[in-house]
Amino acid sequence: MALLELDDVSKAFGSLKAVDGVSFKVEAGEIFGIAGPNGSGKSTLFNIITGIPFGPDRGHIRFDGTAINGKSGHAIARLGLARTFQRETSFDGLTVFENALIGASYGRKEKGAAAAAREAAAEALEFVGLGSVSFGRLAGELSVFERKCLMLATAIAMQPRMLLLDEPASSLTKPEIETSIGLIRRTAERGITILLIEHVLTFLMSLSQHLLVLNNGRVLAAGEPASVIADQRVIEAYLGT
Ligand code: ADP
Ligand code: MG
Repeated sequence: MALLELDDVSKAFGSLKAVDGVSFKVEAGEIFGIAGPNGSGKSTLFNIITGIPFGPDRGHIRFDGTAINGKSGHAIARLGLARTFQRETSFDGLTVFENALIGASYGRKEKGAAAAAREAAAEALEFVGLGSVSFGRLAGELSVFERKCLMLATAIAMQPRMLLLDEPASSLTKPEIETSIGLIRRTAERGITILLIEHVLTFLMSLSQHLLVLNNGRVLAAGEPASVIADQRVIEAYLGT
């Protein structure tokens, strides 16, 4: 059984069909890439999967066999589905550690939860390269790259089964992109299934086992990455932007 399954999912804004009849399956343990020109519906697809801030107009979404379309963002997150945002999102007035602790505390109710959350927050921050010297810095003072790392750490600290990453490489330098590729690969090695949106095809090529290309809200091509990027319709969609 696939971990995440979308069946004929759509979302419109007025007359604009932002996501239009999209179906695909993500297997547990894989990195699944989603590419597409700007405005093709990638971020909207993440929004409707996670229910943040809205679900789909129609279609079915199942996570580990449970129907999640129509559930609240909190209910979906508690099932083990976490996301990052295209724009760096953190609480600027809180420290690096406090931000990660918010993720780590999410949904924890067991005895000793506070101590376990502190440990998970510290571990996730070290994992992304924000070592203990950074713990007391304000999130608002971090560089773009550090903020992306913090957003990833906060999501990892939630100990999700699946992580949705929206354009983690945008506005990064070449060396930072290389670091990000390694980090995402190691995140997958922790056993977290990854759905990865990226505008830059080369980034997806080196990471994903399956690739899907969106255009105008519809699936243009999907399958094994090398054959998808060789598809004439994909080449045309990218040349046209
Ligand atoms: P991508 O992430 O692929 O660049 P988006 O999913 O952000 O694309 O946007 C797809 C289309 O939906 C765009 O035309 C965008 O302007 C539109 N759109 C996205 N979110 C909203 C919204 N909340 N209200 C109205 N239109 C939206
Ligand atoms: Mg987007």
